[in-house]
Amino acid sequence: MSYNNWEDLKNDCKACRRCGLCETRNNVVVGVGNPNSRVMFIGEGPGQNEDLQGEPFVGRGGKLLDKMLAAVHLDRNKNIYIANIVKCRPPQNRDPLPEEQEQCSVWLKAQIELIKPKIIVCLGRIAAMKMFKEDIKITREHGQFFERDGILYMATLHPAAILRNPNSKPAAFQDYLNLQAKISELCPETYDELLN
Ligand code: SF4
Repeated sequence: MSYNNWEDLKNDCKACRRCGLCETRNNVVVGVGNPNSRVMFIGEGPGQNEDLQGEPFVGRGGKLLDKMLAAVHLDRNKNIYIANIVKCRPPQNRDPLPEEQEQCSVWLKAQIELIKPKIIVCLGRIAAMKMFKEDIKITREHGQFFERDGILYMATLHPAAILRNPNSKPAAFQDYLNLQAKISELCPETYDELLN
């Protein structure tokens, strides 16, 4: 599926029943952010708060993510776009099944086609495995950039994992500093006040 405008994509995604997760969801969590951004963040799937509010990365993990983003001058409402591999919450927050990821990939592909990101940051191992490196060792390889089909990918620790292990925070924050340097090099307009 290919789209040339966001409204159609959003409306079709919100009505999606391509996999069984549609049976238990409260909201389809399409994504949030500035579609003119060249920097995307991709997580695994919505949790309970996200399902209830219809937005990715809300709740404690989301607040931590917003803080780390703010420290490197990124803002979900201004200069990045955040989405998930699956748009509906897997029950009991289990990992999304391969077939659910496969069915839902049409939406993420359409989002990536419209945004044309230069950099994609994967939040957590599952997203990184799906997006660019099936055998990623996230504890060793987070913060490194990998080029795939003209896009630079980086994995970083999932905010929920940082909350579980606060000792990992400095290492995770270094990823955001690496990202800031890469954005300044590849798409400095991200930091332009006038990015619209
Ligand atoms: S998870 Fe994705 S494919 Fe499954 S129903 Fe939701 S939007 Fe559709």
